Amino acid sequence: MKDIINILPENVANQIAAGEVVQRPSSVVKELLENSIDAKATELKILIKDAGKTLIQVIDNGVGMSKRDVSVCFDRHTTSKISNAKDLFNIQSKGFRGEALASISAVSHVSLTSKQSGIELANQIEIHGGKLKSNNSTVSEVGTKISVKNLFFNIPARRNFLKSNNVELRHIINEFIRIALAHPKVKFIFLNNDSELYNLPSSNFKKRIINLFGSKTSEKLVPVSENTEILNIDGYIFKPQFSKKTRGEQFLFVNNRFVKSPYLNHAVNSAFEGLIDTKYNPSYFLKLDVSPSSIDINIHPTKTEIKFEDEHSIYAILRASVKHSLGQYNISPILDFERNKSLDIPYNYEKNASSSVGIDINTNYNPFDKKDLSNDYIKLNSFEDKMNSLEFSSETNELKEFDFDNFKSDVAINHPIQLKRKYIINKTKSGLIIINQERAHQRILYERFLTSLTVENINSQKLLHKIEIEFSKVDIDILRKNKNIFNQFGLDFDLGVEKITINAIPSFIKTENLEESFSNLIFNIKNELPDNSFSESDLISKIMSKTLSIKNGKTLEINEQLYIINSLFACKETMICPFNKKTFVKIQYTDIEKMFK
Ligand code: ADP
Ligand code: MG
Repeated sequence: MKDIINILPENVANQIAAGEVVQRPSSVVKELLENSIDAKATELKILIKDAGKTLIQVIDNGVGMSKRDVSVCFDRHTTSKISNAKDLFNIQSKGFRGEALASISAVSHVSLTSKQSGIELANQIEIHGGKLKSNNSTVSEVGTKISVKNLFFNIPARRNFLKSNNVELRHIINEFIRIALAHPKVKFIFLNNDSELYNLPSSNFKKRIINLFGSKTSEKLVPVSENTEILNIDGYIFKPQFSKKTRGEQFLFVNNRFVKSPYLNHAVNSAFEGLIDTKYNPSYFLKLDVSPSSIDINIHPTKTEIKFEDEHSIYAILRASVKHSLGQYNISPILDFERNKSLDIPYNYEKNASSSVGIDINTNYNPFDKKDLSNDYIKLNSFEDKMNSLEFSSETNELKEFDFDNFKSDVAINHPIQLKRKYIINKTKSGLIIINQERAHQRILYERFLTSLTVENINSQKLLHKIEIEFSKVDIDILRKNKNIFNQFGLDFDLGVEKITINAIPSFIKTENLEESFSNLIFNIKNELPDNSFSESDLISKIMSKTLSIKNGKTLEINEQLYIINSLFACKETMICPFNKKTFVKIQYTDIEKMFK
């Protein structure tokens, strides 16, 4: 019998193992920063090119490595942080597996220079795809400098799998923020393509939060502090009114390590119960200190999950101390975000109900009767006036473009009804259609934006009083990158260090909502959108349609429902929203008949 089992060469084994540790540029950033922190660095500089795809460089002033350690640190299972199994139960460092450098060097071009204090020369080593290229002495400062170039150069499938620079940079920034928060005493400088994203002086936890998230953060913070036998808690929560619909700023650290714990996240959320709407998420920055022997961080290679010995007690203490802080700082339960917006019947609605279109069923109504059509047209025009007060489109010639002749003949445009503030139900010749209002409006806006971008210009209006909005440096960077496209949409703004000044806006954006619209835009660019769009104009049209569409949960007047129905069926594509989800479903009368059998 022939033997068929091979022992893989070490560089192949390393490449396979690398898949676990190095998923994308941000994983490299995390590992390198953690190594520098473990080496007791007090100052760290990070340089990134092309969101880490071309270069990731970390320079630290830590303790450095000896000549021998420089030459073995890229081998697998080489670590200075543990030496036997017992140590696994008392981990004080970030790393301990001895895998990161081996994995990183297996899939990139790495160069490392390191010097210990009291030693004259530094040692330098270069490794390409796991193979040693050079190893010699050089002149350098105390500390370690490591450059990782051309990540995944030898695994094209991996490289192609990487997302756009915007998305990869966002991942890197997320990792950076976690580490910068965990170590406020350490000074960080972070450059992306030579522009400075962060310059964080050595400080305390509160100042670090403010430096990362902007000076306005200060007034939002409420301290949390608790010392018990099994656990110390220290940190801040945001006052409930600053909660967000998105899960933005939720940071939990255990022994200065960022962790994800749905269970403990629930503990914090539940402390806010009754203070914030269930759709909103509280923001928090909480540091938990426990005995290293009472936790197990060895369950996940990238180590954001953690097991606690006494999870239930930790849950209870965490919840109680957050509640206590909320109480102590006199935060009373007055907030109900959705209330004004949608739970109440809009004042206008009550007032106008009798005069609004289609509430009384008009049995003589015939959509193809010319007289009736023009009548409807007038109604729609007066409706348009109302639309001026809504967040969404209201350009004057919009409605003239309705092509009534081309409406699907089975779509009746009289008396629709709204269900659950989400669905618009309308009668058709052959049954019913049920439209998802948010998705339908996304489709409508998306097509308009695309046409405006490719065929005509969007109307822009100059603001008499310029508006200033504060943003973090990272958000400013995103705005800077996409400024040209925003300009094409009629948005004109000047960029400052931590703010923008808006000069002109597209006529369909309401000025009161400007700050919210912008934050949503930036959030969507950063997080939400798949980045396989055809082109920038396609991508931005998607983002804009998503941001500016009316949302599910909003009460719509009959006229507004009609607007959605009419505009949707005037679209080129009616069935799906820009994100490939159904905009409406049909129920045939024949199916309804069957249900009664
Ligand atoms: P781990 O961090 O799990 O020990 P790594 O592969 O990340 O494994 O690093 C291997 C070893 O190289 C570390 O244990 C440490 O001794 C050394 N090392 C890595 N980076 C640095 C650095 N920036 N400064 C000093 N020593 C370092
Ligand atoms: Mg490490």
